[in-house]
Amino acid sequence: MKGICILGSTGSIGQSTLDVIGRHPDRFKVIALTANLSVERLYEQSVRFKPEKVVLVDEAAAEELRKRLVSVGLGDIAVLQGAEALSEVAGLDSVDQVMAAIVGAAGLMPTLAAVRAGKRILLANKEALVMSGQLFMGEVEKNGAELLPIDSEHNALFQCMPDGYRVGRQRNGVRSLMLTASGGPFRDYPLDLFSTITPEQACAHPKWVMGRKISVDSATMMNKGLELIEASWLFDIPVDQIKVVIHPQSIIHSLVDYIDGTMLAQMGNPDMRIPIAHAMAWPERVDSGVKPLDLFEVKSLEFEKADDERFPCLRLAMEAMKRGGNGSVVLNAANEVAVETFLSGGIRFTEISSVIEEVMGLAPFCEVESIEQVLNSDVGAREIAQEVIRSIN
Ligand code: NAD
Ligand code: MG
Repeated sequence: MKGICILGSTGSIGQSTLDVIGRHPDRFKVIALTANLSVERLYEQSVRFKPEKVVLVDEAAAEELRKRLVSVGLGDIAVLQGAEALSEVAGLDSVDQVMAAIVGAAGLMPTLAAVRAGKRILLANKEALVMSGQLFMGEVEKNGAELLPIDSEHNALFQCMPDGYRVGRQRNGVRSLMLTASGGPFRDYPLDLFSTITPEQACAHPKWVMGRKISVDSATMMNKGLELIEASWLFDIPVDQIKVVIHPQSIIHSLVDYIDGTMLAQMGNPDMRIPIAHAMAWPERVDSGVKPLDLFEVKSLEFEKADDERFPCLRLAMEAMKRGGNGSVVLNAANEVAVETFLSGGIRFTEISSVIEEVMGLAPFCEVESIEQVLNSDVGAREIAQEVIRSIN
């Protein structure tokens, strides 16, 4: 029986994780669930899965949840509040695996807490790794944590690695990695209409149902840029040995290209419960609830090159990674601010990439040798991004 903590249980990944857990009550037990402020959903999850502890970052939300749980006789579920409680529950002794599914930089410290406690980390929160790359991987090694990727592409790459491969180690005979991308909702959309794209259009992904931030990232292809950086750290490979392949069907989730000419791909229906079930049960296999792939229904698979003009965020992510130091911290922070502002109607779709590029030009470069430096760079880049946005409007 494995004890699970889900950081971000009310989100898209969090809910898919609970769906998998619900199919295997004999294998997995929910120890802790956390959310930012969604009382209603966390209440329902608490009633169904009866965790030992739940966390709501928002104080008023935590108070409300506490009252509701007491009123249905579930007062023994401890309701904690505040960002620090996220790290506390991630490190509990009864927790074996931590699903890191908070969106954005807010997930960094609790995910690191899980790493430092030597847990199995199921990593969905790519921003945490993008921000802290080398430091994060160093902590994994030092604390004997086990890192398994949830991002579908990285989970696919992991599945295609040689037997006995461990994330973060050198890989034998690998020539390059190929990250597949659906191309998002605007792969074929007229370029001259890009500046009129609304948040609703950007969040309507053709293949995946996801949270709003990652949906916009998929539409700008910053998601693929962040994934390039993520793959580079996870598999210890330079970014220019990672290629992006547009594959509109989203059936192949990524490929490993070996020096002998072999190419291994992982395939399946586009449903995050596959990588989630894979990583939770690894090295065993369990039912994920996803229907098997019907190749006769799929019929054909297509591949295209990614278009740099359409998707400048890809180039920006490559640049940030090559720059090293705090480059990826700045990229990520500027992107988070720009996406949030786009979602609330403050800037145009096409301004997301121009804001990021400007922030990358303005933010001072520094090496990052500690998490404090990562956090400081993050705060600094967010302030610059706010200024850049004010100057547009
Ligand atoms: P989501 O927006 O649906 O859910 C986010 C979760 O994080 C929620 O539970 C929310 O309460 C919590 N949260 C948000 N802000 C917080 C804060 N400041 N402090 C604490 N908790 C906070 O997002 P999602 O789509 O589930 O994505 C989660 C992560 O997984 C992201 O990093 C995303 O890039 C990654 N990911 C998602 C998918 C997917 O299919 N959804 C695929 C691959 C990777
Ligand atoms: Mg992905």
